[in-house]
Amino acid sequence: MSKRIGVIFLGPPGSGKGTQAQRLAGTLQIPHISTGEILRSAIANATPLGQQAKSFVENGDLVPDSLLLDLIRERLQQEDTEKGWILDGFPRNVAQAAFLEKLLQEFTDTVPHAINLEVPDAVLIDRLLHRGRQDDTVETIAHRLEVYREQTEPVLGYYRERNALHSIDGHRSLDEVTDSLTAIVGR
Ligand code: AMP
Repeated sequence: MSKRIGVIFLGPPGSGKGTQAQRLAGTLQIPHISTGEILRSAIANATPLGQQAKSFVENGDLVPDSLLLDLIRERLQQEDTEKGWILDGFPRNVAQAAFLEKLLQEFTDTVPHAINLEVPDAVLIDRLLHRGRQDDTVETIAHRLEVYREQTEPVLGYYRERNALHSIDGHRSLDEVTDSLTAIVGR
């Protein structure tokens, strides 16, 4: 059993999860694991995972849990996670959160910090429209926000009940948000 740092980035699309997760990973020297990135790269390389995930990602729907659970199990046991890990985009629903909790009990004593980046909807939409990713069209953005409210927001409650949720104001400068994060994670 080893004690690792575990950080989970929650918060809606466009809230700055990816950027902040990457910065924190650099400071803490632990890997930034983005399920969205893993899926986009699988799609670009037309791997079996990519072929199965493609239509879901393009439509802004969540890919089925079955495509991600084994992948997360394996990724969190790779050597580079010895000191810890940052998850960006996982868990996205309560079933994934329950899976992760069981997984962590199995092989580490990590109690992760869950971070919710709070950003007003109008700001999210504006940021997403200017990001220019392939799944960032007006229609898909609206749908992704809906999916977030329905499936991912309940995950906030899941971590709140476990006293592990930290909500921070994500509508500030990059550095201010990073400072709040480092204060929470404690390095
Ligand atoms: P992201 O880069 O985190 O915004 O993710 C982009 C897309 O990948 C999402 O809109 C989903 O289609 C898919 N995705 C990423 N993470 C997950 C997850 N944990 N569960 C299901 N689908 C996911």
